[in-house]
Amino acid sequence: MASGRTHNVGTLVLTPVVAWAAWELGQHDVLTTWLAGIGCFCGIFISPDLDMRQRTVSETTLLRWSLGIGYIWIFLWYPYAMLFRHRGISHTPIIGTVTRVLYLLAIAVLVQYLAHTFAAAQWSIWDWVKEYQRFIAIFIGGLAISDLGHWVLDHVRL
Ligand SMILES: [Zn+2]
Repeated sequence: MASGRTHNVGTLVLTPVVAWAAWELGQHDVLTTWLAGIGCFCGIFISPDLDMRQRTVSETTLLRWSLGIGYIWIFLWYPYAMLFRHRGISHTPIIGTVTRVLYLLAIAVLVQYLAHTFAAAQWSIWDWVKEYQRFIAIFIGGLAISDLGHWVLDHVRL
């Protein structure tokens, strides 16, 4: 099993490869390239290792970079760590990515509910998903490739 630091380096190496592949497959569309690359890069933070109850290398890095705002991120993902066994379904390629995307969606729905209830907001997360579905799909594709890289590093002896 690879360490958190190895996973982060693996994702950093994979990110330009994913961006290049998106550039080629997306007929040289700049937005597609950026979204796929950012999706892959975000695999460092929206990582399969969010299933760990103890603080990960990525979370420690996030806390350092975000001047403490990262505590909110760690708090938001604690139920995910309680829900999923470490290196269980959360580490399964594609399915693990889907669990994290659905978890983020559940958080967004909760935020929407709170905003509608307490701030009389009118926006709808479902309208955003419908409007930006192509962009979201490209981002998730990049994230899924990052998660696949995580899985490979856990199963290949270097
Ligand atoms: Zn892992």
